[in-house]
Amino acid sequence: MKLETELEKLLIKYKGRRRLMERPFLTYPYMNSENNFNAHHYLIFCCDVLGSILKYADDKKLGQVTMKFVTDDDMEKFNCSDKGNHEWIDWLAANGYENHVNDMFYRHVLFSAIKDFQSFMFESVTCAGKMKMSVAYALLRRPFKDALGIIEWLAVDKDAVIQNLEAENPFDLEITRERAKELTDKVQRKYGLNPQYDLRYKNKDTSTRFELIWDKALHMITTRASPSGKGELNFLFAGEKKLAELSDWYYKVAPLVMHYAVELIVELFESIAKPNEVTVGINYLNRMAHLNLIAPILTDSLVKEVETLLFCPQCGEQNEYKNRDIASHLQCGVLSCPKCKAEVDTRFYITEYESIKAVVE
Ligand SMILES: [Zn+2]
Repeated sequence: MKLETELEKLLIKYKGRRRLMERPFLTYPYMNSENNFNAHHYLIFCCDVLGSILKYADDKKLGQVTMKFVTDDDMEKFNCSDKGNHEWIDWLAANGYENHVNDMFYRHVLFSAIKDFQSFMFESVTCAGKMKMSVAYALLRRPFKDALGIIEWLAVDKDAVIQNLEAENPFDLEITRERAKELTDKVQRKYGLNPQYDLRYKNKDTSTRFELIWDKALHMITTRASPSGKGELNFLFAGEKKLAELSDWYYKVAPLVMHYAVELIVELFESIAKPNEVTVGINYLNRMAHLNLIAPILTDSLVKEVETLLFCPQCGEQNEYKNRDIASHLQCGVLSCPKCKAEVDTRFYITEYESIKAVVE
């Protein structure tokens, strides 16, 4: 009875946000504090943006590299090389096609790392939505440190990653705290993003500490940095109040890292996919409109104060929106054309504007 009342209250509050509301109610019957609802929705939106990017890359074969041989002789020699045992890769690298080989490895590692990041994040957020906080936190370690670390390394020095992959020493690829500091500094300088280094890597004795929670989430008994208390088995006897605290902190900090990760990944994806300016612009606005749900101070000036013209990708009609209106439509998951009634699904990376130039001309 209590749950039904809560759902009714939420339904009334979000009446009209039809697509936004479908998913949480169907999927998360143990929804935690209403205060965390927008952060939860933002995290799920980010997972879906990454998922749609991976599907697009797969459909368009962006993981593959097309190349032209300089001479027919080169093509013939390549065709004759042994395709097993990776001999063809060695032949390409030794005959002036090293850039193509490196580009091929780069794309393969990048999209694989994005997939790994997205898989762990989605499961973590799903668990957080159901208040399974020890599992939710345990699942954050690999994406926040390892997968994102490799993505950052690719973003600033992809050749080093490829070289170290070929070496046999796994230490060459380890994302140590020192290496993470160097890489995140470079990412910050190159892309102007905040990699949240302190949150992800800082020592266990600081106040912002995933490390401490990860230790307790992964081990039932801890003895060093934060020893289990008398009669305590980590997270095992956590009561309602403790779970609520863990949940609140999760929804406060996980979106910070997720926001950074998505912006970096989208940047790398767009440098490969090369979508047109309209697509880049509408997707940025879409991501900022969703971020506006949890960080209005950072995004209000962008999503609420500018007016813009947007073409319908189906009929080409120019619809004039105030960004305040666009933001609320984007957050609800759909942009509708008043003329032809076409709907653009905005719950993912939007690709409908790819042919906009053809429509305009
Ligand atoms: Zn239209």
